[in-house]
Amino acid sequence: MARLTIDDLKVEGKRVLVRVDFNIPLDENQNITDDFRIRAALPTIRKLLNDGAKVILMSHLGRPKGKKIAELSLKPVAERLKKHLNNRVFFATDCVGIEVKNLANSLQNGEVLLLENLRFHAEERKNDPDFAAKLAELADIYVNDAFGTSHRAHASTAGIAEYISQRAAGYLLEKELHYLKDYLDNPEKPYTAVLGGAKVSGKIEIIEKLFGKVQNILIGGGMAYTFLKAKGYEIGKSLLEEDKIDLALNILKKAKEYDCTIYLPTDIIVVPEISDHVVPELVLSDNIPPDRMGVDIGPETTMIYSGIIDSSETVLWNGPLGVFEIVQFSIGTESIARKLAEVTEKGAVTVVGGGDSAAAMKKFGLMSKVTHISTGGGASLELLSGMELIPITLITRK
Ligand code: ADP
Ligand code: MG
Repeated sequence: MARLTIDDLKVEGKRVLVRVDFNIPLDENQNITDDFRIRAALPTIRKLLNDGAKVILMSHLGRPKGKKIAELSLKPVAERLKKHLNNRVFFATDCVGIEVKNLANSLQNGEVLLLENLRFHAEERKNDPDFAAKLAELADIYVNDAFGTSHRAHASTAGIAEYISQRAAGYLLEKELHYLKDYLDNPEKPYTAVLGGAKVSGKIEIIEKLFGKVQNILIGGGMAYTFLKAKGYEIGKSLLEEDKIDLALNILKKAKEYDCTIYLPTDIIVVPEISDHVVPELVLSDNIPPDRMGVDIGPETTMIYSGIIDSSETVLWNGPLGVFEIVQFSIGTESIARKLAEVTEKGAVTVVGGGDSAAAMKKFGLMSKVTHISTGGGASLELLSGMELIPITLITRK
């Protein structure tokens, strides 16, 4: 189904209000430490500028909880945008009000105005209709390109759609939907999902949704231990979600009905505690000592998982396979990440979702070596779980 995108709009001379996701990490001196999300929004901004639009950008940053917090100003983003776009970028010290309105109205074609942090107003998260109406007053056309925020129905992502009839999805949102929805709903087979990370809850819903589509599920990371426990193994001090054991067991049983093979680690790196200074040991997964916790998949597991990825045409990866932040426990995650890059090179489609998984790809220098890295953690999970994301429904409806 074709969706409405900015390609369907006539924007010349129009004030186009674009909801972007500039929720980027800043250090203590307000320096941007990673501008992945800014760069991801550039294709949409450039397209609108080239077509002669007056581009007004709005975003949230962090959790100011309705208060004006200087450390959470979007000002540094305006500076960074200027460099990327090589263009004039004005900055408004608020996102609504008469001054902002005047600024928006005085913009020339091909100029950019970035509004201050939307969440300095509590009304944003409350999806307050009056606040949404005030935002809407700034523009003729509304574009949503904030995939990372699309699981939140806030004033700038949902309410505003009531007040601006001309609207469309930006390129980033469209690209995310193309891979996470269109492609993964109907993937080239064999299709393998690699699932890891810290928690079972939030991801277990994905597993059930993948049944019927996916041929292999490779489980690693913290979530593996709830599954091993469900199989009756002792897991020592490893991460466990007690209340998800039954569900894990159910999933292991159900997989057979769907011709899906679920793989669990056969060997594991264990330590007495998570720290830089401990000496890692290798054990079989049915032999985890009571005073140890699992922090990475072992070499045999890595080899088995790599072999399956090697013969896959589609791979979805969500969640690191170990505590990759500590170099001694990052080998499993790095090996799998490199395998993903390798099969991408050979023509497989590889999609990475989840904030920490994206961070791992960056750490290993592999950002450009996979087909698609999602800019949304929570949003990609909810989309993959088959949930309705209201902002996406509102913006893509023809
Ligand atoms: P994503 O953001 O990619 O969805 P999660 O947020 O679910 O991933 O999980 C990421 C975290 O999981 C990482 O910080 C990593 O250290 C942690 N993790 C991975 N394996 C383990 C493990 N065996 N024990 C504890 N934490 C783990
Ligand atoms: Mg995370």
